[in-house]
Amino acid sequence: MNSAPEPADSVGKINLLGLDRKALEAFCVERGEKPFRAVQLRQWIHQRGIGDFELMTNLSKSFRAQLIEHTEIRPPEIVREQLSTDGVCKWVLQTDAQNRVETVYIPEENRGTLCISSQVGCALECSFCSTARQGFNRNLSAAEIIGQLWVAQRELGAGAVTNVVLMGMGEPLLNFNNVVAAIDLMLDDYAYGLSKRRVTLSTSGVVPALDRLAAVSEVSLAVSLHAPNDELRNTLVPINQKYPIHELMAACKRYIGRDGRRKVTIEYVMLDGVNDTPAHARQLVRVLSQAPSKVNLIPFNPFPGSGYRCSSRETIQRFSEILQTAGFITTTRKTRGDDIDAACGQLVGQVKDRTRRTLRLATAG
Ligand code: SAH
Repeated sequence: MNSAPEPADSVGKINLLGLDRKALEAFCVERGEKPFRAVQLRQWIHQRGIGDFELMTNLSKSFRAQLIEHTEIRPPEIVREQLSTDGVCKWVLQTDAQNRVETVYIPEENRGTLCISSQVGCALECSFCSTARQGFNRNLSAAEIIGQLWVAQRELGAGAVTNVVLMGMGEPLLNFNNVVAAIDLMLDDYAYGLSKRRVTLSTSGVVPALDRLAAVSEVSLAVSLHAPNDELRNTLVPINQKYPIHELMAACKRYIGRDGRRKVTIEYVMLDGVNDTPAHARQLVRVLSQAPSKVNLIPFNPFPGSGYRCSSRETIQRFSEILQTAGFITTTRKTRGDDIDAACGQLVGQVKDRTRRTLRLATAG
């Protein structure tokens, strides 16, 4: 779970994009500069989206020369942009010669949400997710994670992104240090200045990492529960075999905190005939009584060969009513961007070891 060091490019330059407040301060001090220079650098890089050191005129010429020689601001490169009929925009970003990830921008009336990826592929093998079918290649660096926001801001203008959800490709808690560094920049007033309520990390439930997150952050949490009992969840979200539901709910309760400082939402994908009966809903009510939280029902987004169908509108409505009658605030996620495969669980990017994984799946039967 430890992060790899920031990858340097072929000539060994440090990519400043991924340095959070502390790291950037240390960087400045090591070069004989005042820690305050780190504020100016974050303002140039993240607030103003400037990638050219020559333009950073409030830094001394000699410091700028050092920056040019030893560092760079290198965002991931857009290799494809697709615009959905509903305004959703998906970018395919090249992170290195062999890997691509996807980032999605979802405009709404009063906000703009950027859904970002944390890993190239995913190792978790949730049975209904197309990212899982791609296999896992590597963690994204902090620069590659925050770089998705940097690129979105450059493309859409400052202020377009009001919310960030770590719900793209990958399991963010399995790339802990890099994700936490990126979150630090998202919340930093000298970088993106988003409020902790407007940054949401979605996890399948890596329990020990949840506790580590609680110690360093107050971002909102979305927990991919998807089943109300271990037998079913073991098949849908296999990490449940390691961290079963009662442990996960206890961790959610700890994350919320005694004073209810942090927000937790339970995500539940609606799979026809699998997890969507009234009995499942009633079982879910009992599970959720352990940790008060909102519920977000996600209509299943199909992809070729998934083997699942989405529950009917009536089934979702009935499921939602049972939860609401029991006192849980329940919303149903509006599917956006599915015409460009940008909806939840449809992000695939390009993963180096795809063939190996496909073979493995084929031989597993
Ligand atoms: N690994 C993290 C974040 C990525 S997925 C997690 O598991 O939470 C973001 C959300 O989309 C998760 O709740 C995930 O379970 C859900 N999802 C995955 N595939 C989906 C699909 N095909 N249709 C609808 N939701 C899906």
